[in-house]
Amino acid sequence: MVTKKPRIVIIGAGMAGLAAANKLYTCPISNTLFDLSIVEGGDRIGGRINSSEFCGDRIEQGATWIHGIEGSPIHKIAQDSNLLHSNQPWECMDEIYDDPITVAEGGHVLNPSFVEPISTLFKSLMDYIQGKDVQENGVISEVLKFCNLKNLSVGSFLRQGLEAYWSITKDEKGVTNVGNWSRKSLEEAIFAMHESIQRTFTSTNNLCNLDYSAERVYIMFPGEEITIAKGYSSVIDALASVLPVGMIQFGRKVERIEWQVESSRPVKLHFSDGTTLSANHVIVTVSLGVLKSGISEELNMFNPPLPNSKNQAISKLGYGVVNKVFLELSSFQDKKFPFLQMAFHQTGSLQSNPKIPPWIRRTSFICPIYSNSRTVLSWFTGQEAIGIESLTEEEIKSGFSTTVSNFLSTNGNELKFGKVLRTQWGTNPLFLGSYSYIAVGSSPDDMDTLAEPLPEIINLSDSSPPSPPLQILFAGEATHRTHYSTTHGAYFSGLREANRLLKHYNC
Ligand SMILES: Cc1cc2nc3c(=O)[nH]c(=O)nc-3n(C[C@H](O)[C@H](O)[C@H](O)COP(=O)(O)OP(=O)(O)OC[C@H]3O[C@@H](n4cnc5c(N)ncnc54)[C@H](O)[C@@H]3O)c2cc1C
Repeated sequence: MVTKKPRIVIIGAGMAGLAAANKLYTCPISNTLFDLSIVEGGDRIGGRINSSEFCGDRIEQGATWIHGIEGSPIHKIAQDSNLLHSNQPWECMDEIYDDPITVAEGGHVLNPSFVEPISTLFKSLMDYIQGKDVQENGVISEVLKFCNLKNLSVGSFLRQGLEAYWSITKDEKGVTNVGNWSRKSLEEAIFAMHESIQRTFTSTNNLCNLDYSAERVYIMFPGEEITIAKGYSSVIDALASVLPVGMIQFGRKVERIEWQVESSRPVKLHFSDGTTLSANHVIVTVSLGVLKSGISEELNMFNPPLPNSKNQAISKLGYGVVNKVFLELSSFQDKKFPFLQMAFHQTGSLQSNPKIPPWIRRTSFICPIYSNSRTVLSWFTGQEAIGIESLTEEEIKSGFSTTVSNFLSTNGNELKFGKVLRTQWGTNPLFLGSYSYIAVGSSPDDMDTLAEPLPEIINLSDSSPPSPPLQILFAGEATHRTHYSTTHGAYFSGLREANRLLKHYNC
């Protein structure tokens, strides 16, 4: 008698989906045991990992860094597959990254001795929040004594720290020799510049939405943070290379998942082209943004709807937009473009230059993607990241020209840019954002709730026949309580769900 193999369908060919497929397919016996396929709504693998080319350089539209190489599975794959060296220039952020100049609006290059105390203050406050050792000096120790430890958000703690710093250093002179900047307004601008970088790390529009206590649960791998010479997508290619041709089906956007049906093929997937597919187990790896919109009344992606606890976790967790803008330098007086950190006048200041567009005022830097590259890069987060998705390329170039010319001495000539590439993660219906964070009002436990498979534990005392187990499993970066928002978090989550199924079948 021929028995049907259990069918496993993975939704999404990003890092989590491919890690799960790789594990399930390469595990001895399991590839003869399961009927495995991946359905991907787009036309490529990688999801939020997308290496491409811009003006002859290899760039990353999505994931860029291996955040800490010691213990990172992504680093191990990259090293084992020889992906860390390349002859083609790539977005490596080499030594230029360690040598920034900070310039205040109006073109005032700031002396590092002015910037350093505020940078140290910011770093110490963040280290404190994250439970790391704080390099305490007299002022920092005083500042920390002033801060109220019952903070709800990272943003409120940071601002309390800045206020405490000002009250401790208030006897210092209030004027600077930097144009029309007062000491306080300049310090605030430098502090805000660091806040912007922190917003990009976490994808939150406002650090006051970022939960304070969750920062100590998040784990960073130790060691260097590096980029991947052959492109981040080469790691994805390495994972997918073992899968047989045809296992990944492209252009298969799932619109509805029918589950909790009592039959041998319990889950039914409905695709946007009207076709359907049944499976015993479905691993859902779509982003938190896609889940957020999927549980809306309008879309009803799950039928029956997900249990309340899961819906609440999806609604409460944070998920923000981060976009990158790449610009080609068409002229810069043949000078090397610096790693330019920009300290802007804050909202409402009468000193701010009205020609600088508001969408650029909360970005913190613009820099070449490697020393001497003619491609420069800037990161955007939150409202501004969403805003730039609908600007024309001309508007983006002109905004950057005005701003950079204000900050760098260009002898009265406006700096011009050639080509431009801006990512659009927020409006792309397959992502609807960039990565997740723990918002005020949620906690890492919500990520555990999101990761729980369905149906929930069966009540054995109930006389009705039990539903088939493990119908829907959840993977993806937002389901990992300590490594969320990263490629390695996504990778671990894919392994976790593959292992759950392997264990279920005693493999
Ligand atoms: C700009 C940016 C910068 C980043 N920088 C870094 C970094 O430096 N380091 C780092 O570690 N991480 C970074 N990340 C985060 C990292 O890219 C993600 O955490 C990780 O790639 C997520 O993988 P995933 O498999 O969970 O989800 P995804 O990559 O989103 O994969 C899900 C897949 O599901 C598909 N899909 C969605 N809906 C459907 C549907 N209805 N039907 C079928 N298929 C569907 C999507 O097309 C996608 O391929 C960055 C992300 C962005 C956007």
